[in-house]
Amino acid sequence: MRAAARLAAKTFPHPSPLPEGEGTNRSILHDNMIDVLHVPAFHDNYIWLIRAGNRVAVVDPGDAEPVMQALQRHALQPAAVLCTHHHADHVGGAAALASRWGIPVYGPAQEPIPAVDRPVDEGDTVDLPELGLSFSVLFTPGHTRGHIAYYGHGLLFCGDTLFAAGCGRLFEGTAAQLHASLSRLAALPGDTRLYCGHEYTAANLRFAQTVEPDNPDVRARAEHVRQRRAQDLPSLPSTIALELRTNPFLRTASPTVQRAAETHAGTALASQTEIFTSLRRWKDGFQG
Ligand code: ZN
Ligand code: FE
Repeated sequence: MRAAARLAAKTFPHPSPLPEGEGTNRSILHDNMIDVLHVPAFHDNYIWLIRAGNRVAVVDPGDAEPVMQALQRHALQPAAVLCTHHHADHVGGAAALASRWGIPVYGPAQEPIPAVDRPVDEGDTVDLPELGLSFSVLFTPGHTRGHIAYYGHGLLFCGDTLFAAGCGRLFEGTAAQLHASLSRLAALPGDTRLYCGHEYTAANLRFAQTVEPDNPDVRARAEHVRQRRAQDLPSLPSTIALELRTNPFLRTASPTVQRAAETHAGTALASQTEIFTSLRRWKDGFQG
């Protein structure tokens, strides 16, 4: 385990993981500066702290301990916990944080999560008055049956639905559901900054390069991510615009991606959902 990294909640993005021109580093809302800190957990999870002033919302705390340490280290006080889905690596620390701080835990209404006392669903708004922020809830099933994402202020917290250069595995939902969820996220503004649940980007890009060996954006991103990871820096956040150029799961309309999926499947694929389904299956067995 990277003991040192577990303690380090670094402020994003200095240096910025985004290519030049991909968006600003911070959003200014009222007089508040919002920024997002990362807390590494387990092997490759990220717990996100949405910060305004000295208050934070904690996204997907699979483990309470590294969050407590980050809060103490940066003199921050949590206002709420936001969970995207029921997997233990995303909710395991929620109950401990809630009881330690007496804060609400938001989570997907359609999944049974004992720690969640504020179930939310598509169309709901999560108001965080302590931060002066509010987030819309998007229903994004596929990885799990009731998975949700939180979107607001140009930030997207999408758990294990959309990953940088990849997407979540199908544990409970169908490929068609996950494809529809990803298509929805792909339609958000291009400069939306995307914070997902895992550091899987390098492996995802090896698959992306196999699907689209001649995509120059994929190649450039792979090199950029290699440099970031060599310094033990996160590859995140990404942006929707960058995903549209480099994530094969968002590129099912590309003739190159379609051809690659058809070649791998050994059959013609009639729809984008079929192309997506074939890519997801291909990735499941991919040894990059
Ligand atoms: Zn998960
Ligand atoms: Fe996960």
